Amino acid sequence: MAGLTSMRRADSTQAARARARMVERLRTQGIRDERVLAAMQSIPRHLFVEEGLAYSAYDDTALPIGFQQTISQPYVVARMIETLRAGRELGRTLEIGAGCGYQAAVLSLLAADVYTVERIRPLLDRARENLRPLRLPNVRLKCADGALGLAEAAPFDTIIVAAAALGVPQALKDQLAPGGRLMIPVGGNDQRLLLIERQGQVFRESWCEPVRFVPLLIGTE
Ligand code: SAH
Repeated sequence: MAGLTSMRRADSTQAARARARMVERLRTQGIRDERVLAAMQSIPRHLFVEEGLAYSAYDDTALPIGFQQTISQPYVVARMIETLRAGRELGRTLEIGAGCGYQAAVLSLLAADVYTVERIRPLLDRARENLRPLRLPNVRLKCADGALGLAEAAPFDTIIVAAAALGVPQALKDQLAPGGRLMIPVGGNDQRLLLIERQGQVFRESWCEPVRFVPLLIGTE
C-alpha cells in the first residue's frame, strides 16, 4: 500500500481497492448493515491521516492524528454506527470528539444532519481541512466541550461519543430527543460501549462490547 503515501490529496483506484478489502474484513467481523458498509466504502480514510500513515489507513487499527489523539479503528466506527442505526434513521446527529473528522464524514452519508464538536481547536481546524474537499453539506463543526452536549442544536436523535467517560454526562441524556439513542464508551482502563435509548423520561441502558478510547476531557484548548 506504499503508493498511497503519494496519493494523499487524491482518491484513487488503489485506495478504493484498499477500502473494498477493509469492507470485506468488516463483513467477516460481523458488520451486516449494508448502508454502513457502503458509507465506509465511499469515504477516503487515507485523506484523514498523516501522509506517512496513509499506507495503514485501511488496517483495522486506531492511528495517531496528533495532539495525543487517535482516529478510531474502522471496526469500532462501523459497529457503533450499525448499533445506533438498527431499525431506524440516524436523523439529527451529534458527535462528541471530531478528531480528524473521519467518523463525521461517514455519519454524514447516513444522517440528516451531523454536528460534531472537538475540544482541541487545532485538531478541529485540521478536521475542517480534511472534510472540505469532500463537500459534505450536512456537517457542522464546533470547538466546544462536548461533555456539555450542544444545547443550541438539541435535541438529537443520535449522539455518538468518541472518547471514554467515567460516567454518562447528564447534558447528553437531556439533549436526546424522544426515541433518541446515545452511544458512549464508559470506563477508565476497562471500557465498554454503553447504548442508551430514551423513551419519554425513561433511559434504557444496554452494555455492548469492550473498547479502548482516549479519555473524554473537560474544557477546550
Ligand atoms: N471521531 C474521531 C476520533 C476522535 S478521538 C475520528 O474519526 O477521528 C477522540 C476525540 O475526542 C479527540 O480528538 C479528543 O480531543 C476529543 N475529546 C475528548 N474529550 C472531549 C470533550 N470533552 N469534548 C469534545 N471533544 C473531546
